[in-house]
Amino acid sequence: MSSIAFIGLGNMGGPMAANLVKAGHTVTGFDLGPAALDAFAAAGGHKAASAAEALAGAEFVVTMLPAGPQVRDVWLHQGGLIDVLSKASGAKPLLIDCSTIDVASAHAVYEEAKKAGFDMIDAPVSGGTGGAINGTLTFMVGGSEEAFGKAKPLLAGMGKTIVLAGGPGMGQVAKICNNMMLGINMVGLSEALILGERLGLSPAKLHEICAPSTSQSWALTSYCPAPGVVPSAPSNRDFAPGFMAALMAKDMQLSQAAAESANVPTPLGALAASFYQKVCDEGEGRRDFSYVYMWLGDQQRSDFNQ
Ligand code: NAD
Repeated sequence: MSSIAFIGLGNMGGPMAANLVKAGHTVTGFDLGPAALDAFAAAGGHKAASAAEALAGAEFVVTMLPAGPQVRDVWLHQGGLIDVLSKASGAKPLLIDCSTIDVASAHAVYEEAKKAGFDMIDAPVSGGTGGAINGTLTFMVGGSEEAFGKAKPLLAGMGKTIVLAGGPGMGQVAKICNNMMLGINMVGLSEALILGERLGLSPAKLHEICAPSTSQSWALTSYCPAPGVVPSAPSNRDFAPGFMAALMAKDMQLSQAAAESANVPTPLGALAASFYQKVCDEGEGRRDFSYVYMWLGDQQRSDFNQ
């Protein structure tokens, strides 16, 4: 069993760290939010007073933070994790960032870690908060084969599918593509559910027909945005996340920036990205991303120049 430092104990990091505790590891955690820290302690984790304090004796250091700026801040700023680890004596821990961030930030942190003599992987996840709670996440890993081999038993305590996508940053490439598919899919199925309902077919009936049919998807079967259809979906708890619309807007933006840099056409991705941004602009960014269904339901056909 290993000693693990875990920074970022929010909707995802909290249950992921709790699963590491359940697997028998010693986990010391830090989060800026006192409520997140208390929930972690209630799950058997050791609270640290700062990210730096959590590092003492760690064999693995895991971060699960909102976005690139926070990841750069926590790892790279003066007195940040790499700085503190460089000054510490003892064996060098393996560094693991599970956040979903831009590829450039992933490379920047990896390069600084390497310069300081540490191996690091990017290991973003898919599976939502349900996957985090149940330990069934998919990990998409970017890094060396050796680091992947070392990390795999640890990641297996939090997930079911663990895939080496390629070298450093490739986990983030996989994640950005995954979330672009999901973001477009959620908009598409929301449009169809609303259309069916306006034509007299209830979302529940359409779900019953489509879930085993060619339009089947995770968003439809496990996360249906129409309330009253899938009991565990955020739509049945007033769209409490789950996965915040603000984070989906961020991920869709990441995919658009990546598509622009690679000169790849992603017109549906661009349109879906603009919808999540509008949800945020209207002050609903802290709701689950499936709230885009409610937002679409409030629009008029004429709003889209059709
Ligand atoms: P969250 O906002 O619930 O959690 C992030 C946590 O990081 C918060 O508790 C916050 O207080 C903490 N934090 C921020 N800055 C910090 C700092 N400097 N030091 C310590 N703690 C700090 O977000 P989340 O839903 O847990 O998502 C985390 C990451 O996982 C994001 O990159 C997101 O895109 C990705 N993700 C989320 C989901 C999901 O369904 N929620 C699914 C897959 C991937």
